[in-house]
Amino acid sequence: MSRRNFSKLQQRKNMARRGSEQIDGGLPILSGPPRKRPSKEDLRKQTKDMFAAVTEITRIFECKPCRFRFRARQAVDPVEPMLCTRCGRPV
Ligand SMILES: [Zn+2]
Repeated sequence: MSRRNFSKLQQRKNMARRGSEQIDGGLPILSGPPRKRPSKEDLRKQTKDMFAAVTEITRIFECKPCRFRFRARQAVDPVEPMLCTRCGRPV
């Protein structure tokens, strides 16, 4: 049975993450500056953007009645028709 000091291992990892020196004076573990934790808002936005990137595309729509052309993002497999941004009729 091996005797591993897991708390010491964890302590070392924590110090490496926070970017401080080791207490016993060993060589510093080079892992770069401590990473900044992204906020939940950032993560949510990132997820939303990534999801939109695979489920939405930018299309050019032309409204026949008012002859208005516009560009809008729409789902790849649209469920409901796009509405004209000028007159509000389905395109
Ligand atoms: Zn229109």
